[in-house]
Amino acid sequence: MGRTVKCPKCDANMAKLDYEGIYVNRCPDCKGLWFDAFELQELKKLKGSETIDLGANDKSKENDENRGIDCPVCHTQMIKMVDIEHHMKYEACTVCYGVYFDAGEFKEYKHETLMMSLKKMLLGKGI
Ligand SMILES: [Zn+2]
Ligand SMILES: [Zn+2]
Repeated sequence: MGRTVKCPKCDANMAKLDYEGIYVNRCPDCKGLWFDAFELQELKKLKGSETIDLGANDKSKENDENRGIDCPVCHTQMIKMVDIEHHMKYEACTVCYGVYFDAGEFKEYKHETLMMSLKKMLLGKGI
């Protein structure tokens, strides 16, 4: 847990944040977020955890989408994940299960997840 994670996009040392006992790494440059395996799942459950995401998703950056990035922990090439349910794109490592979000993506992810559960609740009551 003591290691420093480098941002897979700009190679800067990511800062460690403690959000209610869960460690998240955030890049000081691009504000990208790195989650170790299971941290994402844990964090998703926490209310208000999207505040760790400082970024407004800059759509103009999508040009570099095709560039493959390597996992900062085990240095294998990460794969692009598309979460159709949440309309999300992010990078995931198939070896250590780390996940990388561009700035703003986690915020969107949380927002979508919230909307989904609200919809499910409403539908559940309506039927
Ligand atoms: Zn970065
Ligand atoms: Zn990895």
